[in-house]
Amino acid sequence: MIPVVKTVEEARKYVKAWRREGMSVGLVPTMGFLHEGHKSLIVRAAAENDCVVVSDFVNPTQFGPNEDFETYPRDIEADAGLCEAAGAKLIFNPEPSEMYHDALTTVSVDKLTKVLCGKTRPIHFDGVCTVVSKLFNIVMPDKAYFGQKDAQQLCVVRKMVKDLNFDIEIVGCPIIREEDGLAKSSRNTYLSPEERKAALCLSRSLVMGREMIGNGEKSTRKVIEAIKAEIEREPLARIDYVEIVDLDNLEPAEDASGHILAAMAVYIGKTRLIDNFIIE
Ligand code: AMP
Repeated sequence: MIPVVKTVEEARKYVKAWRREGMSVGLVPTMGFLHEGHKSLIVRAAAENDCVVVSDFVNPTQFGPNEDFETYPRDIEADAGLCEAAGAKLIFNPEPSEMYHDALTTVSVDKLTKVLCGKTRPIHFDGVCTVVSKLFNIVMPDKAYFGQKDAQQLCVVRKMVKDLNFDIEIVGCPIIREEDGLAKSSRNTYLSPEERKAALCLSRSLVMGREMIGNGEKSTRKVIEAIKAEIEREPLARIDYVEIVDLDNLEPAEDASGHILAAMAVYIGKTRLIDNFIIE
């Protein structure tokens, strides 16, 4: 059975032993309750590295005061089975006290974290950057794997790695979806059967927006309006934001040609879901 370690010291011991044998190390940071989306990252990491560490940590510092830290789903035993099947060699599953005890340091990336999800979740990316930096320093991987599902996070982490000279390659992985199009997410478990159906408005509206652009629509304003109108047809949905931005700096893109990210956050009942597409 794959080892599950709870302390920084134990995690380092494993990684140091692998390094002594000249093995490469991949890291997949997660908050657990793993699904096929996470699995795709682990499988890719296992294909590209000798040893893969999955961190399984519901990070309190990336949740706002009224968010779902307490209720976030957890199942370390199921996670261990999935990690082993996907080819990981170690799970790092610390308690918040092990990660933070008396820490006074925060890693903060400016600008990119103030837009999109950062408007509704003002402390979120500081929490993400701080915990990801810590995981990088604990595991010291050659490569780290992140999903395009959290496209803004991927963009912020890439910038942090560049700015702070982490010698780590960041690998972005495509969004894994349910058969009907809903992006896989640990938070999908919050949805009632009725909400689960309603949640399809995210992927459906994005497909429609992407088609508009594919058919030659250049105005991002028109595409955003059409996406919003499609979501608003769903009574259980409430839009947090729908935006089309430049993929490099996350600033609003007027023209739908080129390197863009169409991203949204939508509440379905009380559950906040995100989804996006990228045009390279
Ligand atoms: P989380 O546990 O939600 O913090 O996610 C951990 C990592 O898995 C992040 O890099 C996510 O972007 C990635 N991830 C989550 N859901 C998916 C998905 N449906 N497809 C691809 N990657 C995902």
